[in-house]
Amino acid sequence: MFEKVLIANRGEVALRIHRACKEMGIKTVAVHSEADADAMHVRLADEAVCIGPARSTDSYLNKSAIISAALITGADAIHPGFGFLSENADFADMVELHGITFIGPSSEQMRTMGDKVAAREAAIQSGLPVVPGSPALESVEDAVKWGAKIGYPVIIKASAGGGGKGMKQAYNEEEVKTAFTMAKAEAKAAFSNDVVYMEKYLQKPRHIEIQILADKHGNVVHLGERDCSIQRNHQKVLEETHSPALNEQQREEIGEIARKAMEKIGYYNAGTIEFLFEEGKFYFIEMNTRLQVEHPITEAITGIDIVREQIRIASGAALGYTQKDIKFAGHAIECRINAEDPETFIPCAGKITDWHAPGGLGVRVDSAIYSGYSIPPYYDSMIAKLIVYGKTRNACLMRLRRALEEFVIGGTKTTIPLQQEIISQPEFIDGNYNIHWLEKHMAETKKK
Ligand code: ADP
Repeated sequence: MFEKVLIANRGEVALRIHRACKEMGIKTVAVHSEADADAMHVRLADEAVCIGPARSTDSYLNKSAIISAALITGADAIHPGFGFLSENADFADMVELHGITFIGPSSEQMRTMGDKVAAREAAIQSGLPVVPGSPALESVEDAVKWGAKIGYPVIIKASAGGGGKGMKQAYNEEEVKTAFTMAKAEAKAAFSNDVVYMEKYLQKPRHIEIQILADKHGNVVHLGERDCSIQRNHQKVLEETHSPALNEQQREEIGEIARKAMEKIGYYNAGTIEFLFEEGKFYFIEMNTRLQVEHPITEAITGIDIVREQIRIASGAALGYTQKDIKFAGHAIECRINAEDPETFIPCAGKITDWHAPGGLGVRVDSAIYSGYSIPPYYDSMIAKLIVYGKTRNACLMRLRRALEEFVIGGTKTTIPLQQEIISQPEFIDGNYNIHWLEKHMAETKKK
């Protein structure tokens, strides 16, 4: 097992990884930007190294500074968390070249899955159902040709895409021409890669994803699904498991399809296969080769510590259990709490004057915030994740309601009121929602 792990991240996920390491008797090294000298992940780690100025490109994305920090402190592994360098195959290669273990899958798997056109191809080869779609689009004429072939509406997506950026819908031939040009420009600006492709635009799908764990000895298990259909701008706002839309048989079937696909491609470490689900059918959209923000809800219903498993797998340990040993119990929901205006979604940086996190049975708060902490304006605005567990979905909802009420965050606006609004809506309570529900609901309440 590793003796010392460097955590190449900040905020709550850095703490999450630190906690898993501590419980395993592993020492931790935090890295931080100049703006994060007072951050909680720096305070808790055994050692800390400043890796550059505030801007992420100069610090948390600075590959050589991070590797130098690992070499200086003698860390034998690096956990990238999520965001930043977590899906950067070149970084994983560099880490391994320096004799340090990258806690994640092979760089080859990361490279394939990070290129959505290649990922679609790999998905098809490994037996996953995919959304009808195209290869990389060469030109406007090509886009028009594929639009006719797939049938409108369609969505043009960036092959290097992430964070919901670079996607454009088109309902007819005229629109597809503009959508192609716009998506290409957006992809180039956001990802320095203008390769785009086309998919059938599903109109009322749910976003359902399967959590995978696989070791380096060919053992693969799935940890069930997460329903992430509550979204804004194609980004997740609240997640739950189990999905209210799936029955036992559908859950087992898609889990097994995903598990077998990972077995086939020889994937290892944690990964998530994302699907859209419409009228009883699943369609692969992408795979994330890293830990995900919403992983705690899966931990809540399976009792498995996913970060601990990632570290064990990276060290070469076998899973030590098979699919039939995975037991699901109860229901869990996660609310992402951002330092943002809940109506305009404009991020609010500033000093936290009051902080009281809810607690009690079945309540988990993952956050790196403390009273007196100043939120720097340079990074993601998510400041906390509230994860609530209950024996049933209803019990979970009741508990979530009281936990949100109990949360006190002073000094900044937060999205807590939005989360309260979501969970009080009859459609949400009935589990009757798709990826468009939240935006539609917000537009309707604005009109009133
Ligand atoms: P990203 O990597 O940017 O998050 P994804 O491919 O995971 O992009 O898609 C993010 C979200 O965009 C999905 O959860 C869904 O809401 C929407 N989306 C993506 N592809 C489609 C599609 N073919 N039809 C309808 N919605 C889609």
